[in-house]
Amino acid sequence: MVRALITDPVDEYIVNELSRHGVIVDYKPGISRDELLRVIPNYEVLVVRSRTKVTKDVIDTANKLRIIARAGVGLDNIDVEYAKSKGIEVINAPEGSTQSVAELVIGFMITAARLVMLQDRLVKDGGWPKGKYVGTELFGKVLGIIGFGRIGQRVAELARAIGMKVQVYDVIDVRDKAIKLGVDVVNFETLIKDSDFISIHVSLTPNAKHMISEREFRMMKDGVIIINTSRGEVIDTRALLKALNDGKVAAVALDVLENEPPREPWEIELVKHPRVIITPHIGAETREAQRRIAEILVNKVIKLLNE
Ligand code: NAD
Repeated sequence: MVRALITDPVDEYIVNELSRHGVIVDYKPGISRDELLRVIPNYEVLVVRSRTKVTKDVIDTANKLRIIARAGVGLDNIDVEYAKSKGIEVINAPEGSTQSVAELVIGFMITAARLVMLQDRLVKDGGWPKGKYVGTELFGKVLGIIGFGRIGQRVAELARAIGMKVQVYDVIDVRDKAIKLGVDVVNFETLIKDSDFISIHVSLTPNAKHMISEREFRMMKDGVIIINTSRGEVIDTRALLKALNDGKVAAVALDVLENEPPREPWEIELVKHPRVIITPHIGAETREAQRRIAEILVNKVIKLLNE
């Protein structure tokens, strides 16, 4: 009998479907690291989201493990190379959350451009700040998308429908996709200098760490709005806080942080800032995305187990 351990909260579909296929499933979301290390030798399949860190010591202890399944996209919490070197398959469901993240980005842009978060806070505090802040429309503005993969492309499509001009930058050749969606491909500097909104959708590679830092903020348009739903490490948080306090950046919306939850003093100051929208990494946290991810993942696991 194949045994699967699930260590983070996932859609019940995964538990039910794996069981239906004869897999013995232990659902232990929130399991401690010590317990994980103690029980992992009993399992052929490990299902995680981003909380569980599948590091070398976990992999070394997991002597029966055949599959590590990430219910989501990012594999940065898994030592993929090491797992592969031990003959373990690492799978994910990258396409499952694209629409949910893209919709969140559009919501973030409107919320930031109209300072909804600030107006909401002031009214709740007993104020009525009508006429105090003048927002901007998205229509006709330039959206710069860094990383033109699945999510970047979907954001571009939705933004075009609203009437934004979209320019994109990627490290790979994305010209064909750009032509199809009616967007311009530009170099990194042009994107940084000429965008009214910048939304980041890169995968986290060593190159992407702090790719938006002091130098980039200096080059940006005054009053730029920054959206990050990719990975927190892409932006230098201290430089972002400074750019916000200097008035260079008008508003920021973040679904990800360098430390989740925030712990450094500058991160705490940033998330409390009235012009910052912060959500706790909820990009894929919709019923639809979780179900889609579950279906994709279960299909892949069953296929591999049957090979
Ligand atoms: P993807 O792999 O389809 O696209 C990523 C794109 O970024 C690729 O085209 C790649 O070439 C490009 N890229 C990589 N490094 C780059 C760099 N330094 N400069 C410019 N471009 C670069 O990934 P995706 O599915 O579109 O996901 C994008 C990001 O969103 C990932 O970081 C993923 O982890 C994150 N994500 C977050 C959530 C959430 O809950 N907030 C959910 C899903 C995905």
